[in-house]
Amino acid sequence: MRIMRQSKSLILLAGLAAIGLGTVLGVEEAYGAKCVESLWPSAKRAGVTRATFNRAFEGFKPDPEIVEAARYQPEYVKPIGEYVDRAVSAKRLEKGKEKLVEYQALLDALEARYGVDRHILVAIWGVESNYGEQPGDKNVIHSLATLICSGTKSKYARGQINSALKIMQRGDVAFEAMNGSWAGAMGHTQFIPTTYTAYAADYDGDGKRDIWGNIPDALASTASYLKVSKWRPGQTWGYEVKLPKRFNPKRVSKKTQRTLGQWRKLGIVRINGKPFPRPSDRATLFAPEGRRGPAFLLLNNFRSLLRYNVADSYALAVGHLSDRLAGYGPFVQPWPTDEKRLSLAQRTELQALLVAGGFMTEEPDGIVGPATLEGVRSYQRAKKLPVDGYPSQTILKRLRAEAPPPLPARADQTGSVGEAQPANDGATPSEGVASGQPANAANGQPAAVGSGQPANVRQN
Ligand code: CA
Repeated sequence: MRIMRQSKSLILLAGLAAIGLGTVLGVEEAYGAKCVESLWPSAKRAGVTRATFNRAFEGFKPDPEIVEAARYQPEYVKPIGEYVDRAVSAKRLEKGKEKLVEYQALLDALEARYGVDRHILVAIWGVESNYGEQPGDKNVIHSLATLICSGTKSKYARGQINSALKIMQRGDVAFEAMNGSWAGAMGHTQFIPTTYTAYAADYDGDGKRDIWGNIPDALASTASYLKVSKWRPGQTWGYEVKLPKRFNPKRVSKKTQRTLGQWRKLGIVRINGKPFPRPSDRATLFAPEGRRGPAFLLLNNFRSLLRYNVADSYALAVGHLSDRLAGYGPFVQPWPTDEKRLSLAQRTELQALLVAGGFMTEEPDGIVGPATLEGVRSYQRAKKLPVDGYPSQTILKRLRAEAPPPLPARADQTGSVGEAQPANDGATPSEGVASGQPANAANGQPAAVGSGQPANVRQN
């Protein structure tokens, strides 16, 4: 035991010396340095030089914002309709139409070279980084190291960090500009390092694949990635459909593939009444809200979008934004609206009920952040409910119904009745459910639903 301790502190000291930190360090910095040094043997095997490694981790400290962001994933906590509506906002649509005009010549050339529809390219650009306005401002190598050192999504981050170091070493981008989201998704296209390494394109031919600062490189990289993801030129991603009466979409597995013609025989038709142009194309049925919301038949190109990012909500948002950019209208069947957002008073009440039930310990403040989401998840787990962490009206109603009744009032004791009631005086500013969101969530950057993997992770 003692020997182990000694050897650990030797490694620690060696680590500190190697990355040139001073001898007086806080516990956190010492921990960070030790963790960083543990990454060196694998980096060296991957061909990273010591000079690159030292430069990459100069002044590195684990970033608590990254860990917090990694634990908050909007696709898990938001109903899909709300996610899609936010991702396909009027502002994003308007800006996308401007981009179609501004980059018309480039988009002509990319369509000709890669066979990927211009509206899809612009839609991905919009959803991923808000057309380059919100590419993330965290150093990618430091983000990945933080994830590894904190044990949050560390398996994913370990699979990325050597690629990131190699990108830095090749000089495709200056170290200072090698920024991205908390998950290490980089630039206009939000490619993670391994996707970048395999698929990024140098469209302008200057020897650098610059998805951070060069829009032709960035959009060509997206087109190139969709092409290898088997995008079919001239075809759509899917159709909004009308279900026949008494057809329960929940009885159909997401994986059931039938031709459009076979779906048609089951009574499923396009919502606009037009025939399917290619009845032999294979499609899956997608009705995330059952009969209460829009339903879709999804084609091959939807599966290509899932290669870009494995969340259904993401691919649907991109496909829909693309259609809107091409001049088509909103979904005919609206999303259900009965799960309205909680008001500030209701959010505070929900937090107080979670605290009272032992599902969270933080002071109720009406601001939904990671602690509240985890509290809801704990509650859902305890009650064997679907675990999505979403603070809904339904959850609030359940919590209210289960709360112990207030103490009986006694004539000789004033004020006891109200004491079991939560404080919901609304003292804190209202920022909505999304207030605990990390910066990159605001641009609609999803991390994969159901897989626990961040953006752009390939699912083979
Ligand atoms: Ca270039």
